[in-house]
Amino acid sequence: MAFFEMVKTAIRTVLRRPATRRYPSVPAKCTPLSRGRVSLDPSRCISCGICMKKCPSGAICVRKEEKTWSIDRLRCIVCNCCVEACPVHCLAMETKYTPCVTGHLAVDVVEITYVKPERPKRPEAGEQEGREGS
Ligand code: SF4
Ligand code: SF4
Repeated sequence: MAFFEMVKTAIRTVLRRPATRRYPSVPAKCTPLSRGRVSLDPSRCISCGICMKKCPSGAICVRKEEKTWSIDRLRCIVCNCCVEACPVHCLAMETKYTPCVTGHLAVDVVEITYVKPERPKRPEAGEQEGREGS
């Protein structure tokens, strides 16, 4: 019985169109829910390094002193952990896949352009007393 089931499955599989596509020569199908690639908005990244700590595959590297954020596309398993963990929501999951890359070309380095806003200056002690006296 099992033999006939196997033959039936084999014949059905041979007659069907392939379930896979020849990506990248045939473009991938992307839906709004597709997890393609992680992207960063460098103008909002505060270099906290939380994404680097949360990444299970060690794909992200944040260098605070050099003001760079980098991702190794070949290591990234597109789990979305970094996107969910980022406190300022400057990471996003794009629906498009990374173009085919090899070796060092797989590492995308982004320069962080965020500038910390200056705190408003506290009024000087004498200035404050003067205001209170008047
Ligand atoms: S999606 Fe997952 S594996 Fe990829 S960089 Fe983010 S945390 Fe790491
Ligand atoms: S991307 Fe988000 S979590 Fe990662 S260092 Fe920048 S601010 Fe922090």
